[in-house]
Amino acid sequence: MRLAALLFLSVFLASSLPTLIDPARLRAHIRFLSSDLLEGRAVGTRGGQLTAEYLASAFAAAGARPAAPDGSYFQTVPLTGVTTLPATTLSLNNQPLSLGRDFVLSSFTQEASFSLSAPLVFVGHGIRAPEFQWDDYAGLDARGKIVVLFTGEPPSTDPAFFAGPALTYYGRWTYKFEQAARQGALGALIVHTDATATYPFTTVLNSFGRESIQLTRTPSTPALRLAGWISAPAASAAGLDLPALLARAGARGFTPQPLSLPVSVQFSAQVRSLVSQNVAALIPGSDSTLAQQHVLYSAHWDHLGLAPSGPDRIYNGAVDNASGCAILIELARAFAQVQPRPRRSILLLAVTAEESGLLGSLYYSRNPLLPLSALELNINVDGIPPGGKPGGILALGEDKKNVTPLIAEAARRHSLALKPDPRPEAGLMFRSDHFSFLRAGASAYSFNPVDVPGSFATEYNAKHYHQPSDEYSPNWDMTSLEIYSRFVLTLGLSAASR
Ligand SMILES: [Zn+2]
Repeated sequence: MRLAALLFLSVFLASSLPTLIDPARLRAHIRFLSSDLLEGRAVGTRGGQLTAEYLASAFAAAGARPAAPDGSYFQTVPLTGVTTLPATTLSLNNQPLSLGRDFVLSSFTQEASFSLSAPLVFVGHGIRAPEFQWDDYAGLDARGKIVVLFTGEPPSTDPAFFAGPALTYYGRWTYKFEQAARQGALGALIVHTDATATYPFTTVLNSFGRESIQLTRTPSTPALRLAGWISAPAASAAGLDLPALLARAGARGFTPQPLSLPVSVQFSAQVRSLVSQNVAALIPGSDSTLAQQHVLYSAHWDHLGLAPSGPDRIYNGAVDNASGCAILIELARAFAQVQPRPRRSILLLAVTAEESGLLGSLYYSRNPLLPLSALELNINVDGIPPGGKPGGILALGEDKKNVTPLIAEAARRHSLALKPDPRPEAGLMFRSDHFSFLRAGASAYSFNPVDVPGSFATEYNAKHYHQPSDEYSPNWDMTSLEIYSRFVLTLGLSAASR
């Protein structure tokens, strides 16, 4: 950027930015979006549909244009729900295991019923990583076989080998299933251990045990017929020597090992189609030659819906992620007013089915409304708690287009310290929608305020995250949301103007 332009922008930012974000409007959107009436904004429900309609109306009222090719604000996302039924059985080494206690299963081919038995092959951590000269599938033809593996990665303290103690995407369970499908395997069974998964088996039962919402499969895409988890005690009882297998999995030169245990599966599920929407709005850039280039703000609108029972069944999701949706709407209003208009376009995308595995953003990254090659920066907003002025900003993401100086400058302008990921081994990097854009090769970040004063913020992770108590209150201090919004506005404006 030329000096004159930079000077102009800083004078402009200093004078008019504060008036462009209105905390009272943020509050009003959060109040409605997290209200009991929307019943937890679940995908495929009336509450979810009302949420998408509210977002479209709010984008229109803010002055942002419809971004879908049909002239609407909606990108249809075809989804399929697979609920595994109690009739499903799995026997390993002729021992029947108990569904929901010893194992969970789903089908990514989205079939309602089948039975099969197939050879089992142990593939260690199930990783193919040429950059680390690591191939757990070396020499294996996985077609017609069920692979058995652990989550996590070979242990490392070397930053040049699987990023040391930090978790890379190779360690995530989603990668394990994706890679097994790419290998043409019939199925994949993850053997759970507390050490390799970093969370207990009950967490697996809770998330995998309910309806599995998946992107509707296109027939040409490889998919696992069978995908599931087995508990460590059940695997040991069936004859697997877990300590020995773990030791092999972590050692250089691992090769796949056939397991001589018979397995047979009787799978039975209720399969339904459902349709959901990404909601997309556009502020066109002022420069006709640059207008395809864009800054993409994303925030998921879906949440967990209703609990089956309990005194308060509604997962209101006020922080997660009515906050992000409110900020998206307020950014739309700010960008519609900002003068001079940024040269590049601003795309505001409220995505569906994040809680089901980043599905709305994944679908968008495969069906973008503007070319992904012209995406300058994705700024994802997820879970911004109320409270006082944040001490800093956590930037989770990767720079592919030299945006790091812009991030540093925006943080400096708002007196926010830029903080590194405090627990890279926890894999926060993969847990929100920016990851879909990172995988597509874009510069993409989730920004989160840290060290936010106020009891709701400090207790959020321990007490309210993914609980019905993630609720809005009129006592919310909006300072953190206001400062955060100005930070992401400044950043997006500079990336769209440079
Ligand atoms: Zn979220």
